[in-house]
Amino acid sequence: MLKDENRIFTNLYGMHDRTLKGAQARGHWDGTAGIIKKGRDWIINEMKASGLRGRGGAGFPTGLKWSFMPKESDGRPAYLVVNADESEPGTCKDREIMRHDPHTLIEGCLIASFAMNANACYIYIRGEYIREKEALQAAIDECYEAGLVGPNAAKSGWPFDIYLTHGAGAYICGEETALLESLEGKKGMPRMKPPFPAGAGLYGCPTTVNNVESIAVVPTILRRGGDWFAGMGRPNNAGTKLFAISGHVNNPCVVEEEMSISFEELIEKHCGGIRGGWDNLKAVIPGGSSVPCVRGENMRDAVMDFDALKEKGSSLGTAAVIVMDNSTDMIKAIWRLSKFYKHESCGQCTPCREGTGWMMRVMARLVEGNASVEEIDMLLDVTKQVEGHTICALGDAAAWPIQGLIKNFRDEIEDRIKDKRMAGIAAE
Ligand code: SF4
Repeated sequence: MLKDENRIFTNLYGMHDRTLKGAQARGHWDGTAGIIKKGRDWIINEMKASGLRGRGGAGFPTGLKWSFMPKESDGRPAYLVVNADESEPGTCKDREIMRHDPHTLIEGCLIASFAMNANACYIYIRGEYIREKEALQAAIDECYEAGLVGPNAAKSGWPFDIYLTHGAGAYICGEETALLESLEGKKGMPRMKPPFPAGAGLYGCPTTVNNVESIAVVPTILRRGGDWFAGMGRPNNAGTKLFAISGHVNNPCVVEEEMSISFEELIEKHCGGIRGGWDNLKAVIPGGSSVPCVRGENMRDAVMDFDALKEKGSSLGTAAVIVMDNSTDMIKAIWRLSKFYKHESCGQCTPCREGTGWMMRVMARLVEGNASVEEIDMLLDVTKQVEGHTICALGDAAAWPIQGLIKNFRDEIEDRIKDKRMAGIAAE
């Protein structure tokens, strides 16, 4: 359980003053120039020591990612790009940072940009996040006025500009290279990798793309030390984490907790328990809509971190925990996700363009029981042909929920097909 003094986001619920004055009163923008003066190597080493893993879903070590940026410029500028295109169904954590605690992010942008030799940072915010954009822009304007960003940012001697760009509502722009294309004014379509953004990213220049939460925790980590952050959670799963719990719990919420908290404690302490009690828990999608579901009875003892959820056959992802009770039609729930991925496919590679539509149509028939039992394996086979055979991870994201459904709820799919057949025979 996270102690109050270890909380990084102290205004997650917007109960306090979100302006610069309020943020400073809560300890943000404190000694920022001093941190910068310690130099790039110190910052990157401290981030590596903290054990922070990217909070956008993939969980790649943040300090290591920063170290891929060129140490010396070859004449090209370097950029930090913050991925604020939070669009995955179930995921709603970054919006709380941007609308209620925006200064954590802006201070993080300055420090992270300095560590990567970048004088400019772009924040790409989801098209639907209108109020969040307003709050974040107001905070950026305050920082320019106070000299915290600009030609001599926070009196550190480092010239730094920050730009907020509004997306137009396409989920695929949350994929880092599609995001860069969109920032450049092109259609948001993922690029082939390599080259990776650290070599050729925005406008062909060295770029690091980081999630909002990954950047917003940076100033506090550096003020309190990498060891402090590494001391929370299990080894390799360090720190605090924002969990966004939705669905059939008594009080859905976004909460900052210590990594590796148990699922039961997370739900009991912050969400008032499962609707109808623990025996009513049917399934959980623990990391946002793209990860496989886990049966309720397997989740109760689950440890909420990257490694433990992988062992459960799923993933921590963005820690968007979708809870479903026994009233849920699992087949229909996963069909709805298939429909989402089909709609959001950018269409440039065949397995994804054709596969997402194909999978969605079979899922629609399974919802009605209007299929043969053999088609379940055929569907599973198609998910395997999509998975890992596409330019970006959207193909995997469309395949995994279906794989999770078949693995965990095959009996439900078969029963529905049989019931439909029996009903047909009875009607004859
Ligand atoms: Fe586009 Fe899908 Fe291919 Fe990604 S996997 S590039 S979304 S078609």
